Amino acid sequence: MSFSRTLAIDFETANERRDSPCAVGLAWIEDGRVVRRESRLIRPAEMRFSPGNIRVHGIRPRDVERAPSFPEAMAPFLPEIAGSLVLAHNASFDVGVLAATLRAYGLAQPAYTSLCTVQLARRHWPGEGGQGHGTYRLSSLAARIGVTFRHHDAGEDAYACAQIALAVMRESGAPDVASLARRLGLARERAGEGARAPDGLAARALRGIAAPSTVQDAGRGAAPRQARAPLLHFVVRGSSGTPYDVRLVEGRDGPRLRCSCAGARFRPDCRHVRALAAGEIDALLSDNPGDVAQLAGLLRVG
Ligand SMILES: [Zn+2]
Repeated sequence: MSFSRTLAIDFETANERRDSPCAVGLAWIEDGRVVRRESRLIRPAEMRFSPGNIRVHGIRPRDVERAPSFPEAMAPFLPEIAGSLVLAHNASFDVGVLAATLRAYGLAQPAYTSLCTVQLARRHWPGEGGQGHGTYRLSSLAARIGVTFRHHDAGEDAYACAQIALAVMRESGAPDVASLARRLGLARERAGEGARAPDGLAARALRGIAAPSTVQDAGRGAAPRQARAPLLHFVVRGSSGTPYDVRLVEGRDGPRLRCSCAGARFRPDCRHVRALAAGEIDALLSDNPGDVAQLAGLLRVG
């Protein structure tokens, strides 16, 4: 196991679903210290925020209305995750969020190795404070090692997580976090896999169709989007003015459209999907009417 880099990651989610991240924080470790920190708000595909989640992180729908979607927010970071040692506090959560959301958007899963800093702390400071789990909470551990941070801010949580790994590394005399992970046998390798969507019928049909070059709904501006994957993505205006994402995904029986509106949870062919499938562009906010025209032909394939 050798790693291209070591970084800590933390996600906050809008609701109980793993594929609802509304914020991500990252902290990079080099030469025994945190050398870089990044955090981004993320606009979840489904704008449903549970009160319990809001209570934890304080992020509300209006805070992320104009934020980039997961693929946009994560675009600069996914190549950094590939081949890396990725630390997270209670890693099964953050690893699960990453995997579920990549899957939801039909994006490739990067191969990387994860290290849970809860397990790391349990191993290094065993039996602390008797039974409860409280001792191994991020806030408790950060206090123990003298790191101050704003808990449940994704960037701050990732930073605290990185500092915990660094503290254990120093106390145990390991030269770096990667060696520490190897020594303790706590690192978990995650196999990468290709993107789902670009396989099969849809891939052949989609090749040559560019992703939308600009997206012009309110607040997202007209920033150039990179055509990273041959997926079609539309933004449509709902009847109350709310923008919804409609994506072409590879379904079991061929390509199909998936909408982010609440109605689509109960009825996959919501009014937005039906309108696009019928070639209607009245409510289209993304400037890719040409893709809508191609869509009718693609959907007939399935
Ligand atoms: Zn819809």
